[in-house]
Parts: sequence; C-alpha cells; structure tokens
Amino acid sequence: MRFWALTIKEGYIMIDEYRESVSYPMAGKEANKTPSVIDLGTCKLGGGHFALIAGPCSVENHDQILSVAEAVKAAGADILRGGAFKPRTSPYDFQGLHEAGIRYLLEAKRATHLPVISEIMGVNDLDLFSDVDIVQVGARNMQNFELLKKLGQLKKPVLLKRGMGNTLLELLMSAEYVISGGNENVILCERGIRTFEPYTRNTLDLSAVAALHELSHLPVVVDPSHATGRWQLVPPMAMAAAAAGADGLMIEVHNDPDHALSDGGQSITTKRFAALSEKIKKIRAVVSE
Ligand code: PEP
Ligand code: MN
Repeated sequence: MRFWALTIKEGYIMIDEYRESVSYPMAGKEANKTPSVIDLGTCKLGGGHFALIAGPCSVENHDQILSVAEAVKAAGADILRGGAFKPRTSPYDFQGLHEAGIRYLLEAKRATHLPVISEIMGVNDLDLFSDVDIVQVGARNMQNFELLKKLGQLKKPVLLKRGMGNTLLELLMSAEYVISGGNENVILCERGIRTFEPYTRNTLDLSAVAALHELSHLPVVVDPSHATGRWQLVPPMAMAAAAAGADGLMIEVHNDPDHALSDGGQSITTKRFAALSEKIKKIRAVVSE
C-alpha cells in the first residue's frame, strides 16, 4: 500500500512516497520476500501449501467432537477446529466447555492424528493450550495487545482473525505484535467485516486475500462460515476464496447443525463438507498450475 505525502524540504514542495509497511517491518514483505510456510508436521500452510481446517463451532461433548473429527478427516480435512472458550454476544448463551472442551479436542487429536486449533480468550488460560497445535485469536480479541504480546513469547502457530471493524493495516499491526515478540508463526484470517448489509452476518472481504498477499509474506486463511452466517453460502464462498488464492479455509462443520449449541445456522453437515472438499481440490489444482 502506498501513499503520497507532501513535504517541504529546503523551500521546495516535495512529493514523498510513503509506504505503510514501515509500520510492520516483520509482517511485511521487507522481512521476507518469499511466502512463509507454517509446518504442522502432518501438513503445511502457506507458500503453495493449502490446508483445510474443519470442525464444529464449539466442542459440545466427547462423542460430538470425536464423530465430527473422524468425518472431516475422512473427507480430507488437514486440521480440526473446535472452540472450548466461546466469545458469545449474550452472556446467557453457551460459553463453551472450557478445560473439558480442550480435553475432548485433544482426545479427537489423538484418535485422528489431526493437528487441532482452538480459540484463546485470555492470557490466564494459556497453560491449557500446551498441546493445542494452533492458538486462535478471535475477531473480538484482534487488538487485545497484552494477549498478542504473550503469544509472541510462544513458538506455537497463532491464527489471527481480522476484527469485524478492523482494516488490513490494523490486522498487520496486530500480527507485528506477535512476530516482534519472537513468534514468527502467524497465520492471518479473513472472516468478514461489518458493513450495512444485514442479510449476511458479515461481508466477506475477498479482496483481503490478494491484498494481504501483496503486503505480507504471511499465509492467509478464509473463514466463510462467520463471514456469511448462512450455511447455504458457505460452499460458494469457500470455493471463491480458494480461487482467490487463500492458503487455507476454516469451515464450521457439525454432525447435527439443527441442534448445535452455537452457530448451527452457518454450519454445514459432514456430508456437505465431503462434497465441498472434492470441489476445493479441483479449484486448488487450477490455482496452483
Ligand atoms: C470462531 O471461529 O469460533 C469465532 C468465534 O470466530 P470469530 O472470532 O471470527 O467471530
Ligand atoms: Mn462459530
């Protein structure tokens, strides 16, 4: 991103090129001209490696996460998601199983050998995440700078979601907090921003994928579930994101969306996920030609 600034030097008006990337020297292209690759052992993400992240919004109980984990693995998922700490708009809604949720998620990890991702909401819970492969920072915490600084002290990958009211520059500045702390394993995630359109939960800013690739070496994942809030829109937007060059997708999948404890309306069934996964493979083949 470039701006032009007028300055006066020695009596002359000068037009200076001002690059925003000076504000994020480690997340920007100056630090690394080639795309960063996040290595999760069984899969990689970034720099031509694509990862499909799938699973329920929330870990609801032992059997639910185990059965979704087996199903998404069979359908080609590379990473299992499942929230144990849920940022809910209403304090009366299901808040997640907390410690037990992480325990069930780790059981699903052992059963399927899929790396797992889960959202952290506060620095005090960090110890619970020691065996979680990717720590997710949710949209609402994108600018929780104390949390970002703590995550900068880890070596563990951090998936940083764009805040619903945040610019790309602000997202990159938040990534800079983690990287400048010493942790370069940052994955950016576009999950929709708030606009004037109420039909969709958010508005998926797909241009963010191409823009972030232009500005940064970090991998970019798209979450079409929170971006749209409607399961019917998830497969088309997932395919569009893959076509736009996303390095991964994060998709909410449930074995029984009608009875999900959170975000059932935007969760696709395991069967629909299997069909989508096949289509994504074909799109990826074209994109990586
Ligand atoms: C989530 O992925 O579970 C979540 C709460 O998403 P977001 O932070 O994007 O709203
Ligand atoms: Mn959700």
